[in-house]
Amino acid sequence: MEQQQAEKRLNELRKLVEELGYHYYVLDQPKVSDAEYDALMNELIQLEDQYPEWFSEDSPTVRVGGEPLPFFEKVEHRSPMLSLGNAFSADDLRDFDRRVKQLVEGDVSYSCELKIDGLAVSLVYENGRFVRGATRGDGTVGEDITANLKTIPAIPLRLNEQVNIEVRGEAYMPKGSFIALNVLKEQAGEEKFANPRNAAAGSLRQLDPKLAAKRNLSIFVYAIGHLEGKEVSSHHEGISYLRELGFRTNQESEHCSNIEEVIAFTEKWVEKRGELPYEIDGIVIKVDRLDHQKEMGFTAKSPRWAIAYKFPAEEVVTILKDIELSI
Ligand code: NAD
Repeated sequence: MEQQQAEKRLNELRKLVEELGYHYYVLDQPKVSDAEYDALMNELIQLEDQYPEWFSEDSPTVRVGGEPLPFFEKVEHRSPMLSLGNAFSADDLRDFDRRVKQLVEGDVSYSCELKIDGLAVSLVYENGRFVRGATRGDGTVGEDITANLKTIPAIPLRLNEQVNIEVRGEAYMPKGSFIALNVLKEQAGEEKFANPRNAAAGSLRQLDPKLAAKRNLSIFVYAIGHLEGKEVSSHHEGISYLRELGFRTNQESEHCSNIEEVIAFTEKWVEKRGELPYEIDGIVIKVDRLDHQKEMGFTAKSPRWAIAYKFPAEEVVTILKDIELSI
């Protein structure tokens, strides 16, 4: 591509990805499928890699999520809630493994988890009591949705220990609840939700907790954001501790000793994802040792020690090459 043409396409893509992100993250009303969005984002990443001189810190490639909605109190996260780099094939995963091994020494093993398709939330507990829950928002500042989160039965209001802890998890709507909700919406002549992810996000990002309570939401907690008074040395040990405290964690996770085992885990779930009572859009792979995670650190947008393997799209999608901005 000629330089002038490349610059034009880069600016077009930035605008387009930004606009699609606004519909998805802020309005909870996606305009295109995830696979179409990912294809556009990847084209943009490749162009930016090719022309580093056009770097912009406003580009959607370096920003996480979307602005918090103005009618919620804002919550500043103690540490950023980031995005994840993507892998689309076994070779991408082997590249990830190579990068990891260039950065750390010693045995590397991986925690593999289902990537639940819902809304990332942070839950803060003081002396074991749930005091605040927030959305990821733009990664730095989220929305205070404590009242809505308190209506989710799987979120403990008191833990089994009087601990100060912040945890992160994915709030989601089970497939069955989503289908039932859309039947009701249709009967009431209301607009249906596009998918369980948007239904969950829409239920939690509105002001009436009574409405959230009717939506039959659940949660899987998948990380410790902050913890006082206890040391854990690996991700999988942290997850066991979360379970002891009373959190709902996902039982399908596996601790893999090498990347080929990780690949086998992703292949298994490509086949089996349809059997789950909730939607997943991939597998999250995390370097298990926390000292390794610390050593590897973060880019502006995502941890270097984790990656999301995205499933191949289930339906055939048209890759949007010349998509109009008027979508
Ligand atoms: P991401 O794909 O970068 O992944 C990070 C998120 O994964 C976390 O915030 C968390 O919510 C979730 N997650 C689920 N299970 C997890 C686990 N076990 N461990 C850690 N995290 C877990 O998320 P993102 O940055 O919000 O969004 C990027 C994706 O969203 C895109 O790849 C695209 O598929 C979709 N998207 C779609 C559109 C659209 O228009 N269709 C627009 C924007 C984004």
